[in-house]
Amino acid sequence: MGIRHIAPLAAPHVNDVLCFLPMQPLKAHIAAYICTTFLKLMSEERSLNFLEEIIESDIAEGIHNGRVHTRFPPEPNGYLHIGHAASICLNFGLAKKYNGQCNLRFDDTNPATEETEYVENIKNDIQWLGFTWDNELYASDYFEQLYDFAVTLIQKGLAYVDDSTAEEIAAMKGSTVAPGINSPYRDRSIEENLQMFADMRAGKYKDGEKTLRAKIDMAHPNLLLRDPLMYRIKHEHHHRTGDAWCIYPMYDFAHGQSDSIEQITHSICTLEFIHHRPLYNWFIEQLGIFPSKQYEFARRNLTYTVMSKRKLLQLVNEGHVSGWDDPRMPTISGMRRRGYPAEAIRNFSEMAGIAKRENIVDISMLEFCVREVLNKKANRVMAVLDPVKLVITNYPEGQEELFTTDNNPEDETAGNRTLPFSREVWIEREDFMENAPKKFFRLAPGNMVRLKSAYIVKCEGCVKDDAGNITEVHCTYLPESKSGNDTSGLTVKGTIHWVSVPHARTATVRLYERLFHVENPSAEEGDFKEYINPASMQVLDSVFVEPALASAVAGESYQFMRKGYFSADKDSTTDKLIFNRTVTLKDAWAKEQKKN
Ligand code: ATP
Ligand code: MG
Repeated sequence: MGIRHIAPLAAPHVNDVLCFLPMQPLKAHIAAYICTTFLKLMSEERSLNFLEEIIESDIAEGIHNGRVHTRFPPEPNGYLHIGHAASICLNFGLAKKYNGQCNLRFDDTNPATEETEYVENIKNDIQWLGFTWDNELYASDYFEQLYDFAVTLIQKGLAYVDDSTAEEIAAMKGSTVAPGINSPYRDRSIEENLQMFADMRAGKYKDGEKTLRAKIDMAHPNLLLRDPLMYRIKHEHHHRTGDAWCIYPMYDFAHGQSDSIEQITHSICTLEFIHHRPLYNWFIEQLGIFPSKQYEFARRNLTYTVMSKRKLLQLVNEGHVSGWDDPRMPTISGMRRRGYPAEAIRNFSEMAGIAKRENIVDISMLEFCVREVLNKKANRVMAVLDPVKLVITNYPEGQEELFTTDNNPEDETAGNRTLPFSREVWIEREDFMENAPKKFFRLAPGNMVRLKSAYIVKCEGCVKDDAGNITEVHCTYLPESKSGNDTSGLTVKGTIHWVSVPHARTATVRLYERLFHVENPSAEEGDFKEYINPASMQVLDSVFVEPALASAVAGESYQFMRKGYFSADKDSTTDKLIFNRTVTLKDAWAKEQKKN
């Protein structure tokens, strides 16, 4: 597989310690400790990553007068995912750090799969992540210029039109141990090539009938330099240029030239393009245009998910998820809908760092970053997910009280709110046990607990239906134990959350688990979809939440006390409240795994 695990790290910079890391993700509590340490270090001076070192050395040498200009070049053929977020944070981050610029360039040279819908969503996602591009550009804007570049190469005798079929070209390619064979069309005259290339553009030929190839060396040790394709014929509608073109440049001929046109100084891409670099340089040198340079870093991979747009598209099209923004998807839009704050995604990108070798980052590191941010900004509220009624038998019928409670003890500016209380409240079914073991500090006959922000209650027993199901728990309360003014002198070990029955609002809550039940679905045998976790979503339809949540707006995050962080879904309305579980309070999942 050649993929290594990167667990959350404790070092000034990830790259400094990569080689010492274990192959398995660290235990959750160690990981959390390490992450905390890392966050502290992040706010202090950290050592430079390898790209920063390159840039600083370029600046010191006065290359391009010390100018830094990066770009983020998405192909608009799907939604952005957390891997793209790494590239976005890197490219925009470097530009910001070195007072440079970062372009957003749509790499839209492939008409078949690209759509305007994707363009709009990509822009939206980048802005939501907190970045602003200096220029919004499209590779398709350069089609005329790229065509002229190709003509220049033909004129220099460095490109030719080939009539060979795709199969013939592949057969003549050779291998890593054998040189390739020259195409019989390789020595066409410059005039003939110019005419035929013009005819290709004019639509004289059918798809696949001809290609334009660079004339480099069919025996080159790097197979990518054995007369690579520059243009192919595709009679296809383009989302921006319409039917103006029927020939489209290949990635290798479009990307570097687009960088050069925009005078990009540092063109950062993922590791799989490392062997393309000599070709990137070859075109630029032969054309004598602005010398952009390409640098590679390892793709961001994450455990328990897949990251390629092609695979994500399959999940969407085959209905395994509700759409690109399904909260289980590793897409930016999915994570946003799930309630991941943009700040957490940025922190995660920084924490995971950039590497020069393939690796896979433990998803618990991302979840750690999400909890860190939400702990600071999410208001604490009460929601009962699996309700059973608690009746306070000595509380006067019809009486109501309003308690005042802090919204967030971690944030003084978060203010407070009122909480209605009455004789009947909903509590979690699991907070009562009829025959409890000794160390059960919640409700059991004879036990006392505090109802959060309200009173201490003493459990007197329960009521059951004919089938033996518990329908009510009965308690008495201690009027002198009122929160904030407690004169009872009692201390109780358990505090539980509750929601007043007559004031409760009903809500739907979606509990999400990992979308896959194996760490690296793409590396498993067979189809990756065989490894989808069948229990990745559980829907609870009769959850009771406190009335303050009636005004929850989409995207707002809350901590449901003792239950986790939740966010109002985009489909949530005052009449039909829907909350998505963003993340549990602790890494319960890792604990579960340890048990198994
Ligand atoms: P995918 O394989 O998911 O379809 P892609 O590389 O084809 O991804 P692009 O839209 O071409 O997607 O990517 C835009 C930029 O984001 C490129 O510079 C690419 O290298 C970078 N990128 C894509 N996936 C990742 C990833 N997993 N980690 C880091 N950067 C990525
Ligand atoms: Mg791509």
